[in-house]
Amino acid sequence: MKVLVGVKTVIDPNVRVRIRHDGSDVDSKDLKTCINPFCEIAVEEAVRLQERGAATEVVAVSIGGAKSKDSLRTALAIGADRAIHVETDLDVQPLAVAKILKEIAERAAIDLVLLGKQAVDDDCNQVGQMLAAMQGRPQGTFASSLEVEDGVIRVVREIDGGLEMLSLALPAVVTADLRLNEPRFASMPNIMKARRKPLDVIVASDLGLDIEPRLKLVSVCEPKVRQAGEIVADVATLVNKLKEEAGVI
Ligand code: AMP
Repeated sequence: MKVLVGVKTVIDPNVRVRIRHDGSDVDSKDLKTCINPFCEIAVEEAVRLQERGAATEVVAVSIGGAKSKDSLRTALAIGADRAIHVETDLDVQPLAVAKILKEIAERAAIDLVLLGKQAVDDDCNQVGQMLAAMQGRPQGTFASSLEVEDGVIRVVREIDGGLEMLSLALPAVVTADLRLNEPRFASMPNIMKARRKPLDVIVASDLGLDIEPRLKLVSVCEPKVRQAGEIVADVATLVNKLKEEAGVI
């Protein structure tokens, strides 16, 4: 079973983002970036499948500018066998990502596409669903556990009402939720080893796909500043305050 894992480089969720003066977008200049945390979980799961003998090859793919390579290096250090950088300076939106992943998956005869459930920069949560629909393949989104047996993949999904179990016939698309696993720490020897693993570059425009952005970002603004809370002495004081605010006393 060949596994393709989509990895995206995002602004590190631990740094404070600023908005450009004209409100046109987030100011990402000089901000620290990292592999999208859900993508890291997806890579870890693919590598575990390979360690259990269920996967024969793990291929990591990232679409975007030069920083995409950083996430690919992380994926290789976790244990992916090889990487593909689909290079573009366009703002690649989920539909474009899904089209490119479909093309790459077909070219490499992929059995399982493993993605993060969402990229934490724009929180779209769309690529996996779009890809499965375009490929006409079964999908298991928000996976918190995954087993492969006899060409069938059993996925436990985290849904609002609890857990749902699905059996998907391969080839399929699965997206990783937080509890799927805890990614391993990429050790220094593995980071060094990753440098010698193959990393192919494909220029996105050479794929002959329409990947132009469909969505236009109109403006970005800070959320309203919330008023500071107040600690009151007891329940009676709280009830009085609420009544005052509601204008009933
Ligand atoms: P999204 O639907 O944009 O929230 O992204 C869901 C998942 O799709 C991510 O966790 C990645 O696995 C994959 N993905 C999104 N954007 C890219 C990208 N530029 N390159 C590779 N994979 C991506």
